[in-house]
Amino acid sequence: KERQRLVENIVKPFILDDAVYKRVCDVMLDNFNKGLGKETNAEARVKMFPTYVRSVPDGTEEGDFLALDLGGTNFRVLLISLKGQEVNMESKIFLIPQHIMLGTGIQLFDHIADCIYKFMKEQKIEKKTLPLGFTFSFPCKQLGLAKAKLTTWTKGFKCEGVEGNDIVQLLHEAIKRKGDMEVECLAVINDTVGALMSCAHSDRQCAIGLILGTGTNACYIEKLENVGLWDSDYNDPKEVIINTEWGAMGDDGGLDFLITEYDKHVDKHSINGGKQIYEKMISGMYMGEIVRLVLEKLRRNGLLFGGVGSEELSKRGRFYTKYVSEIESDVDESDFKSTKQVFEELELTNYTDEDCRIALYVCSLVSTRAAYLASAGIATLLNKMGRKDVSVAVDGSLYRFHPHFHDLMVEKIEKLVTPGIRFKLMLSHDGSGKGAALVAAVANRLR
Ligand code: ADP
Repeated sequence: KERQRLVENIVKPFILDDAVYKRVCDVMLDNFNKGLGKETNAEARVKMFPTYVRSVPDGTEEGDFLALDLGGTNFRVLLISLKGQEVNMESKIFLIPQHIMLGTGIQLFDHIADCIYKFMKEQKIEKKTLPLGFTFSFPCKQLGLAKAKLTTWTKGFKCEGVEGNDIVQLLHEAIKRKGDMEVECLAVINDTVGALMSCAHSDRQCAIGLILGTGTNACYIEKLENVGLWDSDYNDPKEVIINTEWGAMGDDGGLDFLITEYDKHVDKHSINGGKQIYEKMISGMYMGEIVRLVLEKLRRNGLLFGGVGSEELSKRGRFYTKYVSEIESDVDESDFKSTKQVFEELELTNYTDEDCRIALYVCSLVSTRAAYLASAGIATLLNKMGRKDVSVAVDGSLYRFHPHFHDLMVEKIEKLVTPGIRFKLMLSHDGSGKGAALVAAVANRLR
């Protein structure tokens, strides 16, 4: 009927056919090659940073390690004991207050050192000398396994005096200022590498790490001969893990053919306008807001809630991405239990079952586009690597908790991948902690 037609008209920019996703794959491959090329890297938006992690764990890693996980919602300090396949872990979540997220680098790293100190005291390990692995999930140019310069803050962080500097040095200086602890950071990785390493510990086919959380990013194992940027030795294994930083795809306008007015709006009101365009169409920090903008437009056009919204629904950032998961878990369309609960939380009172149906439809379109876009990225990596069997380690709350993300991705990757390539998407557990400890363990053994 008429209402349906008008709704369709507003949401249709989210419905994209396979030809569009194939085009995304082409753009992605161009970006990957540009990033890997020695001459082209400087101008590339997708940076393809070599990580200096050359091999996946072989299961012989042993010892006690500290790990830090910074790069999103939670900051964690962990103590990890490795012994073959046996992994024991203690961890504590610390808050990073908003004023520190937007303060100075000194404040941030002093806070981190304080947290490490508190954690070690609590664990009664303050007298020990412990190697540390640091999962720092922001785009960094690595100059070595334990030397990484932050290129740019993302995901809501903006601490002065860190961009362009070596974060390991900043950490070590803060630890020194704090005094009274013997901690040395042996490796910096990001969460994608953590996920990959953690899964590879038990699955030798694992060769891609993917994050779908606050942000999105992926890493994969690349042959050194394809890494024009590589400036270190060519010894065996002739491979290195590349941190793609693929969230920046589209920053050069390369994805403009599918950008919607809602994406533009989200970008414009973010603290990093014009940056991380692909990430903003996919990840948890933005998805709820995209949905909110569509719902608001439908409401303004009298197509939802009889045209009557609420103060809550009109607040930027108020529609959490977890609502998308909750609404889409209403499989039995006759009751819309979760959808109604979300509406109540948003103080919407004027809703009908038809409103619920439309809200669910909007959520599914936005999350499906996100899943398919991420799939295009993974398919491009799979095709580029050309391995026959690959496991993809996935971490992040969006993938973990959204009711259909996994299935949507499997379905779309199958469509986009070269016939004959087989893949598995597997949930990575505690990648940021375990992965950092595994890399630190290897570094510790080699020194
Ligand atoms: P991070 O990526 O910051 O390390 P997470 O993997 O927990 O941490 O991701 C946090 C993001 O996941 C937030 O943007 C949040 O909106 C989103 N999120 C949290 N819960 C859910 C959920 N149930 N469904 C979908 N997204 C969620």
